[in-house]
Amino acid sequence: SMAQRQENVILFPFMAQGHLIPYLALALEIEKKLGYTVTFVNTPLNIQKLRPSLPPNTSIRLIELPFSSSDHNLPPNSENTDVLPYPLIIRLLESSLSLKPSFISLIHNLTHPPLCIIADMFFGWTVDIARDFGIFHSVFLSGGAYGMAIYYSIWLNQPQLKTDSDEFSLPDFPQIFRIHRSQLANNAAEATGTDSWSVFYKTELALTLKSDGFLINTVEDLDLIGLDYFRRKTGKPVWAIGPVNYSLTYKARSNKVAGINPDLCIEWLDNHQEDSVLYISFGSQNTISSSQLMELAIGLEKSGKNFIWVIRPPIGFDINGEIRSEWLPKGFEERMREKNRGLLVRKWAPQLEILSHKSTSVFLSHCGWNSILESLSFGVPIIGWPIAADQFNNVKLLEEEIRVCVEVARGNRSEIKHEDVMRVIDLVMNNRKGKGEEMKKKACEVREMIKDAIKEDDEASFKGSSVKAMEEFFDKA
Ligand code: UDP
Repeated sequence: SMAQRQENVILFPFMAQGHLIPYLALALEIEKKLGYTVTFVNTPLNIQKLRPSLPPNTSIRLIELPFSSSDHNLPPNSENTDVLPYPLIIRLLESSLSLKPSFISLIHNLTHPPLCIIADMFFGWTVDIARDFGIFHSVFLSGGAYGMAIYYSIWLNQPQLKTDSDEFSLPDFPQIFRIHRSQLANNAAEATGTDSWSVFYKTELALTLKSDGFLINTVEDLDLIGLDYFRRKTGKPVWAIGPVNYSLTYKARSNKVAGINPDLCIEWLDNHQEDSVLYISFGSQNTISSSQLMELAIGLEKSGKNFIWVIRPPIGFDINGEIRSEWLPKGFEERMREKNRGLLVRKWAPQLEILSHKSTSVFLSHCGWNSILESLSFGVPIIGWPIAADQFNNVKLLEEEIRVCVEVARGNRSEIKHEDVMRVIDLVMNNRKGKGEEMKKKACEVREMIKDAIKEDDEASFKGSSVKAMEEFFDKA
């Protein structure tokens, strides 16, 4: 690979796994493919937790900024959203502003000014710091452009407060483009305009639009509507450089506690027919309600399909706790095991290995952006069940624009019936001459599109769009 360059690139993500991991993947890519020195900045506990995820021969510098959660009315040692209940996450966001003085001294004390600062969408305050030092600033969005564009537009305009109707359009999008209230994340649905979430987002997101450019974890041809939004809103370059994905790039098994020996999971798939298994997961931090859990289980059983289900306790219970038998139909797990029909995985599954297995047919997903990119990278179509954040927008992109998805349910407060689950599974997995076939075909096209985007080739004409975008970014920075 390339000789190490002297220039230093600063990376500074928000303290949530969904931000830290893609930033780490970006750091590794910048180092490996472009040869820059990377300085990765975060709070002490996050840096310590990240250290074991670094491959052995990297020279990425991990830098801790002083931070104590108890100074911010947070429980001790709470430096990551993954240890906080939902209502406290806004406090962690607000407390990140206290990192400002130490971030300034970090930049100030560097012997050579860094080439650029790449910072989180929630750290709009870093734009002015970069400008004061005369350093190029860029935001890296770990979500997709479409999902992030709607997210920005909703928080910056709050159209849901300006109408009583259930459906409304967004100021920055065509009139025909409608959002339903049920597609709002809980904090947006409950926003008053002056609540803490609104105040924080309105300030920080608006500041990021003054950055010198946006790097987005997406593929140009897959995400034109969202990319166009950021190009219009900023008047600055926007580079689609994805998929930037730690597991896809490094094929590494996570150091999370596995809920099953990954080899057993693969063996189970080996013992099932090609294209016959439904994989179900709601990501790393979301779960559904107990009545939804029950209806999903009944629907799965009645569908007659094979499945691997990464199961978590329902909302209201410790998400990492045991699964109680009363949450499922009587004898469900044993029956599914005896009939070799379904495998329940606790805690953590080897998702990439499952998605890349030929027996896996469809992914029932909460539509977190990483899961989407992983699924599409292997040509697996999606049944969408968004729960939070940008997931409601992601499912809209997948269903209405890319056409690789059918939504089965929305959120973890809604009523859902097992008939709904059965109907969608039937539509996607049995209807192989209709919708299911169409989705599968489209997903395979997207898989090729992603492959093309990341193609490395010395001949400029064969270089993928994401590879080119990354090089253009560094030409500009
Ligand atoms: N993941 C996994 N095993 C699990 C659950 C999640 O490997 O049991 C990985 C998954 O492959 C993806 C990430 O965790 O890379 C989840 O990211 P995503 O953006 O989909 O959702 P989030 O967890 O941020 O809501």
